Amino acid sequence: MLEGMSAIEVTHLTKRYGDTVAVRDVSFAVETGEIFGILGPNGAGKTTTVECVAGLRTADGGTVRVLGRAGGDRELRELVGVQLQESRLPEKTTVGEALELFAAFYPDPADWRALAGDLGLGGKLKERFGRLSGGQQQRLSIALALVGNPRIAILDELTTGLDPQARRDTWSLIREVRDRGVTVLLVTHFMEEAERLCDRIAVIDRGAVVALDTPAGLVDRAGALRRLRFRPSVPLDEVLLTDLPEVESVRQEGDRIEVTGTGAVVQAVAATLAAHQIIAHDFRVEQDNLDDAFVRLTSRGNGA
Ligand code: ADP
Repeated sequence: MLEGMSAIEVTHLTKRYGDTVAVRDVSFAVETGEIFGILGPNGAGKTTTVECVAGLRTADGGTVRVLGRAGGDRELRELVGVQLQESRLPEKTTVGEALELFAAFYPDPADWRALAGDLGLGGKLKERFGRLSGGQQQRLSIALALVGNPRIAILDELTTGLDPQARRDTWSLIREVRDRGVTVLLVTHFMEEAERLCDRIAVIDRGAVVALDTPAGLVDRAGALRRLRFRPSVPLDEVLLTDLPEVESVRQEGDRIEVTGTGAVVQAVAATLAAHQIIAHDFRVEQDNLDDAFVRLTSRGNGA
């Protein structure tokens, strides 16, 4: 495999279901070793996109290359592990049976007993699928996606329906998967999940990518406002701050100052204060989070 090549390259992908254009002109590249998120509201086209990447659907337009190969390449099935939304097994199948069966599909499978242990299912090998908790079922579906020793794991909405603790446990698992050297393509509609887990995120809305960046970059890109509050050690001439290009507004209330701005406003204000030997007491910064950025990005995408 060529060094430095993207693990996944999606270029101008389009997919229709009858008259519905589910994905229109979507392009992104996932680098080896990263956790790449596809974030968007329900119906945005996330699942369709990853199904095309996984070779489970044929694109109507554009190209998908995974590990340098064209989508649909048979060998790719051995290199890409897929955990699809609400994948269910027969109720009576045991954890051990499912893992053993799936492992048999691959030429170089992982040690499924060890994998089950790593995923906290070591004591559940004889348990039937129907008797597992939601969190255990999710862990099993992750184990099944990984049992073939894939280079890429595609995980679709895997924390939907989990309680907060199980969701956090799943996040740790995904980080461990990445730390094993597996590239992760993760579909989610949870902002917090995307923010905590992903190295980069493509925000998809109505079948199109409306932004692609790191979580922090998305917040910046959405023009996120930052609000700074502090008490200067000496009275402050507001012009010092209003002159800064990053600053949008300055308000004084008694001995307190509130500054709003964008970009590197925190650094700019801090540097200005330091240059004038002003100490900022009780310095606080509030910032838009990915939630705010997402709403702004997707409402822009809707032409609002
Ligand atoms: P997401 O994963 O973001 O919720 P999907 O890719 O599942 O979005 O769906 C994108 C659009 O395509 C939606 O409008 C959905 O109703 C439609 N769609 C998805 N799957 C099918 C299908 N098998 N047949 C017809 N329409 C579909």
